[in-house]
Formats: sequence, structure tokens, C-alpha cells
Amino acid sequence: MNSLRHFVVPPQSGRGFRVRQGQHVRVIDPEGQQVADMWAFTTSGGLDWLSTSQTRDITERLFPIAGECFYSERAERLLTLVENNSPSLHDTLFPACNPGLYERAGLSGHPNCRDNLLAAVHEAGIEPAIVPDPVNFFQNSSPQPNGRLEVLASNNPPGGNVVLRAETDLLLVITACSVDFHPTNGGICTAIAVEIE
Ligand SMILES: [Zn+2]
Repeated sequence: MNSLRHFVVPPQSGRGFRVRQGQHVRVIDPEGQQVADMWAFTTSGGLDWLSTSQTRDITERLFPIAGECFYSERAERLLTLVENNSPSLHDTLFPACNPGLYERAGLSGHPNCRDNLLAAVHEAGIEPAIVPDPVNFFQNSSPQPNGRLEVLASNNPPGGNVVLRAETDLLLVITACSVDFHPTNGGICTAIAVEIE
């Protein structure tokens, strides 16, 4: 029997989680309105990673729904979204926040999800040739009818969460998004909780 393990990803940080095929991962926004970016990399066989573009293509959706999978760059099933306990859509269009985003806002040296990802994969001994785009859980950024893409304040309530099942052995990286100069995370960056069973 698997035991339930609890983790906290502190505000504006990220960390890696090694999960085995069949394990379940719950990503929780304890205080609400906090975006969690997620990446997945395979840890057996050749290096492969979660691809948001392959996932959009194969599922023919912009926003993942319960019962469907997240696919890899090689079109393999990596994760299934088992439960969606959140009224929020989950963005698959935007890159992680990154140094350039903050520099354009006059905030050089700001914590960011890209650097937090790179630190976590480096610590895990994985050196991806590119930086994949994440799945942005709880991010409120659906396209407007005129095609405009704007990130609005997350509408995720306190405790809103998703549950994923690993379909292969993976390194998951989850960040508590660092954006604090824009409404993305409700104006205040808070922690993300992770449970693995
Ligand atoms: Zn971010």
C-alpha cells in the first residue's frame, strides 16, 4: 500500500518530485487564486517530456478535462487528469514566467517559474535540450473572442485542486507562480501543496 506524502512548494519557488507509474499526485492551491505550473520529464528510457502542443493536438482541446491525458513530445501518454476539483480552466498556451517577462515590467532579478524549473531539473540530473512550456493549472487566460490573450486573476477558490495519475515513471516539476506585479495570482503569491500517493 502506498503511503500519502505531503509537500509544500513555498511562494515563488518550485521543486521536483519523482513519481512512479500508477502513483497519484494532487496539486492543491490552499489559499486560492494561485497558479501552479507543471512540467513532466520521463526518467526511464530516452528523455521525453510533456508537450502542451502535442496534448492540444491529440486531445483536440485547449483546456484539459478529467479523464484525458497529457502527452509527451513523442506523443506518449505521461499523465492522466483523474480529477478536476477546480472551476478554473487550466492554461496550455502560455510559457512559464521568465526573466524577460519581469525585465519588461522593470523587475530584473525577480523570481520566476523558468529559473525555478531549471534549478529543479538540474538538481535531478536532467538536462533538457529545450525548456518546454508548462501546464498552468488554475491560470485564467482563455482566449478572448477577438483572439486576444490576456492573463486575468485566477478564479480558483481556496483548496481548488487537480489529481493526476502517472502513466510512466516521471520527474514532475511544480512551481508556485511568481507573478506579483499583475493580477495572475490574485496580487499575492502563495504556496502550492502537493500530495503523492
Ligand atoms: Zn510563473
